[in-house]
Amino acid sequence: MPKVDPNYRPLRVAFDGDGKIRDERERRVVERAVKRWLWKDPIRAKRLPPLIELIEDQAAAEVLITWHTTLGMTDHEEYDETLGRRVTRPAPVLGETDTARDGSRPCLVRLSREIFKEMPLNPVWAVTHELGHAMGLGHQPGGVMVDRAGRHYTGIDYMDRERAASNRLEGVVGYLGDDR
Ligand SMILES: [Zn+2]
Repeated sequence: MPKVDPNYRPLRVAFDGDGKIRDERERRVVERAVKRWLWKDPIRAKRLPPLIELIEDQAAAEVLITWHTTLGMTDHEEYDETLGRRVTRPAPVLGETDTARDGSRPCLVRLSREIFKEMPLNPVWAVTHELGHAMGLGHQPGGVMVDRAGRHYTGIDYMDRERAASNRLEGVVGYLGDDR
């Protein structure tokens, strides 16, 4: 494995005071998603800072998280087993990453409470995906950054963390592409 330069700071994420935490579940799912981004390789885990951390101090955060009852609907392309072909269906937007192009304000990660209703989606993975966008990651054919988070993905893979580390070294915050 190539060496990763350890001279980066974790991406600092906090809950926005205006996006009220309605229940503990909303805090827990974010805490667990942050934990999933921890280095898995024991040598990297020992040598490198975490890629992302949840802090209490909003003023020190580069990314603010808010929870919403709904974020509206979008078109979701999926494979229909019965029809034997890909179809487009409306689906709720579960998360979005709103990045200021000029960096004039913190990056905002909006999460929808519909995350908890979209069975068989694992809500932790959906948040993990959105945090990937907050770290500057775009969609990938595999790993946690697969398009349409949480429906078909297989977890964080090796390259997801390597890309995130390279973004941390460059100080990238947020993502300007398709962020859902
Ligand atoms: Zn996405």
